[in-house]
Amino acid sequence: MAKDKMEVFYSPIGGAGQIGMNLYLYGYKLPNNETNWIMVDCGIGFADDYYPGIDIMVPDIDFLNNKQNNLLAIILTHSHEDHYGAVGSIINNKIDVPIYCTKFTSELLKEKISEDYSENYLDIKILKDNAAFTIGKFKCNLINVAHSIPEPNAINITIGDINIIHTADWKIDEKPVINRKTDLEKFKKIGNNKCDILVCDSTNIFRSEPSITETKVASNLKKAIKCIKGMAIVTTFSSNVSRLISIINAAHSNKRKVVLSGRSIKRFIKVAKVCGYIDKDIFFIDERDINKNSKKDILLICTGSQGEPNAALSKIANGRNNIVQLAKDDTVIFSSKTIPGNENSIGFLKNKIIEYGASIIDDSTQDIHTTGHPSRPEVEKLYNLLKPNTLIPMHGELFHLAEHIKVARENNIKNPIFAKNGDLVRLYPDSPMLWDQNEPNFYLRDGDIFITPNDRALKDRRRLQESGVVFINLVLDKNFILYVDPIVETFGIPNKMDDIDNVLEFIEYKIDDALDSLPKAKKSDDDYLIGYIEKNIRNHLFLIWGKKPFIKVCLTFV
Ligand SMILES: [Zn+2]
Ligand SMILES: [Zn+2]
Repeated sequence: MAKDKMEVFYSPIGGAGQIGMNLYLYGYKLPNNETNWIMVDCGIGFADDYYPGIDIMVPDIDFLNNKQNNLLAIILTHSHEDHYGAVGSIINNKIDVPIYCTKFTSELLKEKISEDYSENYLDIKILKDNAAFTIGKFKCNLINVAHSIPEPNAINITIGDINIIHTADWKIDEKPVINRKTDLEKFKKIGNNKCDILVCDSTNIFRSEPSITETKVASNLKKAIKCIKGMAIVTTFSSNVSRLISIINAAHSNKRKVVLSGRSIKRFIKVAKVCGYIDKDIFFIDERDINKNSKKDILLICTGSQGEPNAALSKIANGRNNIVQLAKDDTVIFSSKTIPGNENSIGFLKNKIIEYGASIIDDSTQDIHTTGHPSRPEVEKLYNLLKPNTLIPMHGELFHLAEHIKVARENNIKNPIFAKNGDLVRLYPDSPMLWDQNEPNFYLRDGDIFITPNDRALKDRRRLQESGVVFINLVLDKNFILYVDPIVETFGIPNKMDDIDNVLEFIEYKIDDALDSLPKAKKSDDDYLIGYIEKNIRNHLFLIWGKKPFIKVCLTFV
């Protein structure tokens, strides 16, 4: 390789500015100015209330379709939705490259994709523990880490003389339930040979204490379940197979039979069996047979820890499950954390549970959950092992990334680089530095189609949910005289408005006024006439109501 002419780049497309939508690119530029890229992770994000009607966001990688850029492969570090959930939309986008991942991720990916696409679309290269593989000029090497799902990996990427560690999601857990431990020895060895660049998880950088181990959570769950008199209902993240195993073991040791409720939990249990993490012959009671047993003999594991309205737990709490009825003595355990943004829906769910007289246990009162991400001391331990020259924080909101930069400085890392979504960092030649900045782009999944964040539908929805809509249907003759009375329909306008100044009458009056006062030339311009009437009515409604509803005038001539 003509090393002196080569340039190497890093670009976060998603994940560096929000927790979610992780997609990181590493690329090398060829002498003909084309850049070959590898993609590390391809996840979805969860949209907030600013995008009404939207749940899912996916990164925009359209620029990879141009002639200057080639995508060589996708590497998936693990199978959390925020790391692999957008692969389907990439395939939809006709990007056809090999996908490198471990067996557990591949099984889930196949299950997921088969819902929408044929499996034949996927060119999956299954990687074993510590796999070493080459993509173009990139030499990649997996490193075992602990996290909250089976088979998570960090990646050591080398190109020319440059040695990069991309941690993905990780933590140090000395006593995991099934996960392999974080391979600190391997990190140390890489550090001794020289690590140039560390691209590192920032999620828990504000935490000063290491989290408890999965084994400790397992024993706390066992104790908590022992005290429950009625049915034990436990909700957790479906992907946390270690936790599912701990819950199942806690049930069995308390002589309770296990019932599974919710599609994603069943899917993860199925894949965990295929990959050997859960005994193939393990026995679960069918949900329909619950009532053949006494409540004290049952433990129900269900989806819905974030208050998702259609998940199993919400259905139970809202009386939409015909078999399971909550009652006094039943206890719901949230073996999970509240993901920021879900506070209201979880609060609503908990209130519903309490209305039945049932009890709740969550991580605010008992240690029945632990995080999958490293606290500050764990990050510092990794710095010590790797001794990188450059630190680039990722997997965090901007304030997490900024704090991570501060921590790196305090640990004497020479060259911390703040890179957010859309930025391009040149890693080689010379000292790594911010090279270019672009606006980050993403798509939003709206039903079965993808739209951009600027789509007019979103602006309209924001206005509609804020202050409603007034539809006005006008039929005019050739002389601009009303042919019939205007038809006015309102949605989302408060009842009280009907009594104020008689709104409908006023609207009709304003229409007449506009038609009388406007010169013919203006009236002949449909757009002008419509705009004039809309503006007048909107302004008047603002005067009497204090809000500006969406006004839609439809004009017909006879
Ligand atoms: Zn993860
Ligand atoms: Zn993640």
